[in-house]
Amino acid sequence: MNRAAWPAAPAIGAAVLLAIAPFVLPVWMVTLLGYIGLYSIVCLGLVLLTGWVGITSFGQAAFVGLAAYVSALVVTRAGLSPWLSLPLCLVATGLAGWLIGWLTVRLSGHYLVLGTMAWGLGLYYLFGNLQGLGGFNGIAGVPKLRAGALSVADPRIFHLLVWTILGLLLVAAYRLADSRAGRAIRSLRDPIMVESFGVRSAQLKLQVFVAAALLAGLAGWLHAHYLGHVSPSPFGINASVDYLFMAVIGGTATPIGAVLGPAVVETLRTVLRDAIPALSGVGGNYEAILFGGLVIVLLQRASGGLAPMLARWLPAAPTPRAPDSAEPLPRRALPQAGSTLLEVRAVSRTFGGLVAVDAVDFEVRAGEILALIGPNGAGKSTLFNLVTGVLEPTGGEVLVAGRRVDGLPPRAIAALGVARTFQHVRLRPTMTCLENVALGAWLRGRAGLLAGAIGAARDEEARCLREAQSQLDRVGLGALAEAPAGSLALGQQRILEIARALAADPALLMLDEPAAGLRLQEKHALAALLRSLRAQGVTVLVVEHDMDFVMNLVDRIVVLQFGQKIAEGPPDAIRRDARVVEAYLGGLDD
Ligand code: ADP
Ligand code: MG
Repeated sequence: MNRAAWPAAPAIGAAVLLAIAPFVLPVWMVTLLGYIGLYSIVCLGLVLLTGWVGITSFGQAAFVGLAAYVSALVVTRAGLSPWLSLPLCLVATGLAGWLIGWLTVRLSGHYLVLGTMAWGLGLYYLFGNLQGLGGFNGIAGVPKLRAGALSVADPRIFHLLVWTILGLLLVAAYRLADSRAGRAIRSLRDPIMVESFGVRSAQLKLQVFVAAALLAGLAGWLHAHYLGHVSPSPFGINASVDYLFMAVIGGTATPIGAVLGPAVVETLRTVLRDAIPALSGVGGNYEAILFGGLVIVLLQRASGGLAPMLARWLPAAPTPRAPDSAEPLPRRALPQAGSTLLEVRAVSRTFGGLVAVDAVDFEVRAGEILALIGPNGAGKSTLFNLVTGVLEPTGGEVLVAGRRVDGLPPRAIAALGVARTFQHVRLRPTMTCLENVALGAWLRGRAGLLAGAIGAARDEEARCLREAQSQLDRVGLGALAEAPAGSLALGQQRILEIARALAADPALLMLDEPAAGLRLQEKHALAALLRSLRAQGVTVLVVEHDMDFVMNLVDRIVVLQFGQKIAEGPPDAIRRDARVVEAYLGGLDD
């Protein structure tokens, strides 16, 4: 069982209640429920986009509007059935989403937000001013959805239609969360990390942007053929802010937040709108003020939105678990022992006037453990980043298994069998250890966003989770598979990063200061692990400060100082090297 099944019992209960609701509740409540369902579809897109990826979009209402106008136009002008216009709506919003996404997701922070705002505003005025769209009065007389005797002119039918669609979408969203693509999407806030395991982060972000646009488009189509009338005002920037607002109140971390937000906001709004004038006998905007106050209180009490509060009342969500057995993922053919796996030729890197790495040469041979040591600021991490593609050299060449890799992006180098850990741990703290490690196996799977959402590729998923569990067992963290990575001690987090790198089935494992922050016993265990990896044919390049750790473990050492290589050889020779002793060992015990 995994979280895809969550919250199974409460969900079935809610589904049953929603199915009988239209037959027992008064019409105004059924109508309200219909709107809640409609808004939830848009907010679900915001959970993916804002909650998972971290993109704040002020343009979702414009996608809703685009679909509503497209459908209203083709149905009223061409006499097409509303059902047949749905694919057209999806194509239109998908294309628009792709274009807007392509233009904006590469932008960072404020520019991205401004980009979505520009889109939201631009389309609003276009709707209002374009000839033939009825100006700000819009298009009336849009046919309502009907099937035989059933028509959405009856709010009960609309309610059932919307909630059926929403239910299916929620199931898909939960499935996606616990899939290969979902784990990567939920990690996109750290693009350097995901790229170093082979994820095309910009492409995946764009896919999420399009998915969110499609959800908005679906809602727009429903809107047009429920109300029978489209005009620009429900699709302006205010509406986009409203959607964001509802999503944030519901909680953007989990799909259910997309339903809670609209449910609470719309119910409050309706109740206040009706109750306040009745109470005080005066109309006006009092309800808006009271509403704003309630929202502030709510966000103060629950900054993550309502979903985490609700989760406290529900049975604990089971986290993904690996099956006891599954066919192993395919393995990489390891290079022949002793052959040159990594070659660094006269590599340099300058930062402004500072030469951080100065014409360094060395090679790593398959099957050995090589240490790169040197005092703080010697250039070790820079060299590490030059090899892994995070930085580009200003001179020289880097070759992996005989192929030039300098200038290639990290994901391309990862594909050649280079896996790494980070000096400053880069884990997804709220994802479990198992999920974090499974991300390392990205390049050993294929299933994308759609496959994840519809639950195809279950076999691959099982194999991937099995692999992640095996790597956790291998490093001794097997019992913590279901713990959030952020709950581990720093030393354990470093080991967890090694497990994630191992899940990539690397030919070359690169570790940046793996022993930092480990206790003595943990260091011994780490050394034993690295020795056993070497025995299994994994080549290791380790950047390290801890001299004892390195001396008793590695085959060869390369010493850097001020960006230059000052010595290279087996540990015993390095220990006796006068230049190393003078330059480095004296100042080592910092
Ligand atoms: P080490 O890992 O051996 O401690 P680094 O590779 O981190 O050393 O740094 C080598 C030198 O390059 C240092 O002087 C550091 O200040 C400088 N440096 C590293 N990264 C950058 C950067 N992005 N911009 C400017 N200077 C940098
Ligand atoms: Mg460093």
